[in-house]
Amino acid sequence: MREQLHQQIDQLHQEMIDIRRYLHQYPELSFKEEKTAQYIADFYEKLGIPYQTKVGGNGVIATLKGGKPGKTVALRADFDGLPIQDEKDVPYKSKVDGVMHACGHDGHTATLLSLAKAIQPFQDELPGTIVFLHQHAEEYAPGGAKPMIESGALDHVDAVFGTHLWATTPVGVMQTSKDIFMAGADRFEITIQGQGGHGGYPHETKDAIVIGADLIVQLQQIISRRIDPLRTAVLTIGIFEAGNAFNIIADKAKLVGTMRYLDIRVQEQVIEEMERIINGVCVANGASYSLNYEKGYPPLVNHAEEAELVLKASEHVSEITTREIVPPVMGGEDFGYYLLEKPGTYFFTGAQKAGNEFPHHHPKFDIDERALPIAAKTLIEAYFAYQEK
Ligand code: MN
Repeated sequence: MREQLHQQIDQLHQEMIDIRRYLHQYPELSFKEEKTAQYIADFYEKLGIPYQTKVGGNGVIATLKGGKPGKTVALRADFDGLPIQDEKDVPYKSKVDGVMHACGHDGHTATLLSLAKAIQPFQDELPGTIVFLHQHAEEYAPGGAKPMIESGALDHVDAVFGTHLWATTPVGVMQTSKDIFMAGADRFEITIQGQGGHGGYPHETKDAIVIGADLIVQLQQIISRRIDPLRTAVLTIGIFEAGNAFNIIADKAKLVGTMRYLDIRVQEQVIEEMERIINGVCVANGASYSLNYEKGYPPLVNHAEEAELVLKASEHVSEITTREIVPPVMGGEDFGYYLLEKPGTYFFTGAQKAGNEFPHHHPKFDIDERALPIAAKTLIEAYFAYQEK
């Protein structure tokens, strides 16, 4: 059956490409993916596979119950786009101004839908149950995974697997980790309230720009002097807004940034140190402040046993020639929430497009579509491997 299934997946390659290209032309932003959710629901409706819509938002879950006893395994694909203008010159370029599938979630959706179609004819012989977990809003915290879990997405699930088509990894390479795979990602906003005034009379003011500049430098000391060098964290201020005239001292400054980490204890430490330093710098300068710290996605931590299992399962996928255990990447992923609840593993499916090697979230991002059936085969082999474990 597995050989036939692989053939079936190969036969659906063109349809996979068509689905991916259709979705690529009509991307929708996180939490606004109503049409994409409807497209997914319609697909299962046509197949006659039972599904549920509006799971924790725009999430869609389809369930294929096999004819033989076994475990329930969820396979996840996200389906939101990004607020980026598509700058590619291809026929399937985004038709929506300012919105683009610049992370490959269109490909994830095409992969999972086609896999459902490919495996359906084998339903009677199938052990266990497959849960096709189509998740909305991966790109924008608080994300779709958490509300889907809260709505019961994992209630009867024994394990969960997912893959990301990875544009900086060559086709035929699969990458994963037996431990931390992707970083936790938080957002913070600091507002410094100083006292404005005349550019020629600094002694009568509390210059919010000078205080902000000092703070930006001080905050980096957390990374270089406070965190154990063997435990990584990144602190990036992406926005520094202050002032509106060359000869006026700004009374207010706004700093917005992200904090990335691999270990919850580091997260706690950074937050504590940030508060201490912001308070210290502001007190020293007679200014006041507010800190709005939003915890985002937790680190994505793979389960070692399931990671091992996926690596082994991928040996059944002839197109995969290289398997790599890789160090964690500092990008975030809300798949981490599923792995806090259930055993499972996330992995990258190499999808680098020769001649178009732009990274994720780039206006010219694209994938090599040969990766779609490879992703589908690896996911279903992980499913079988889990049944046999
Ligand atoms: Mn992504």
